[in-house]
Amino acid sequence: MMNRPTTLYTVIPCYNEEEVLGETSKRMQQKYADLYDKGMITQNSKVLFVNDGSKDGTWDIICSLSQQNTCFAGINLSRNRGHQNALLAGILTAKQAADVVISMDADLQDDINAIDEMLEKYFDGCDVVYGVRSKRESDTFFKRTTAQGYYKFMHRMGAEVVYNHADYRLMSRRALEGLAQFKEVNLFLRGMVPLVGYKSDVVYYERGERFAGQSKYPLKKMLSFAADGITSLSTDPIRWVLKLGAGIFVLSLIMLIYSVVRWATGHTTSGWASLMCSIWVIGGLTLISIGVIGEYIGKIYMETKERPRYIIESCVGLEERR
Ligand code: UDP
Ligand code: MG
Repeated sequence: MMNRPTTLYTVIPCYNEEEVLGETSKRMQQKYADLYDKGMITQNSKVLFVNDGSKDGTWDIICSLSQQNTCFAGINLSRNRGHQNALLAGILTAKQAADVVISMDADLQDDINAIDEMLEKYFDGCDVVYGVRSKRESDTFFKRTTAQGYYKFMHRMGAEVVYNHADYRLMSRRALEGLAQFKEVNLFLRGMVPLVGYKSDVVYYERGERFAGQSKYPLKKMLSFAADGITSLSTDPIRWVLKLGAGIFVLSLIMLIYSVVRWATGHTTSGWASLMCSIWVIGGLTLISIGVIGEYIGKIYMETKERPRYIIESCVGLEERR
């Protein structure tokens, strides 16, 4: 059993979100007031916005919010580092002051009314509570089918990802201490959190439409994020290359015998088409295989550099700079 009330930090990464911050902060302030009245959170609880190098007025809005109300705080990253890095910056900063941290998107697609239930599960002894979408009606058909296919594919590769869970989740300080020990720079948080362990549970919520503004995840970014997820959680693709090679080797033995027989029976001039096909097919497969392995080598290269995952330029509304 965890103690009530608890100090809750909600971490919200923001990239060019000036259109939604007014509404998001209003609703969060109301939610915090309710949670405080219900005796679930302490007065030290905060909403921590992470400005991920926005080009619009996002940081100014965060600063003025934190001046108006001490329940708002912000950290300003030195440049745009992407959603996952911004999220990590936020939760690792929040960990120093909070008992429990919830991460969510700025655009109100994550239903903030699920926070109550998440906290209940935390009070019941869960260290991690995953927000899971009960339905995906607000997504396009394309996004829905590709996303669900992706989750299934990840499972088949032995990666532990929670079905239909994105980055709306609660983590206790203890779980965050665990996460902080993962030093990788290629971040795929929704795949790393299950590896931390501890007791976990899920809370279902309906994913809404983006409140305002444009998605900050264009298709290209989404695909590369999906590929990062696979390479960060599994080395199965390398094994597939090995299996493919073995399969083709067996085929080549059959072809060898076939060729010798054709030669012995005097049919050696025909076969231009089959020759052309094998050159192209084998060439293609070779390139794909090198590409798969290269993808992992690229990741190793980035990991060995051990570059910082984020750099904090300034903070507002946090008691002390830590
Ligand atoms: N985000 C970020 N840095 C980026 C891109 C996005 O911090 O480089 C934030 C964004 O402000 C939002 C969250 O990540 O709070 C999710 O982005 P978005 O809602 O655009 O993605 P979608 O819901 O369309 O997948
Ligand atoms: Mg969104």
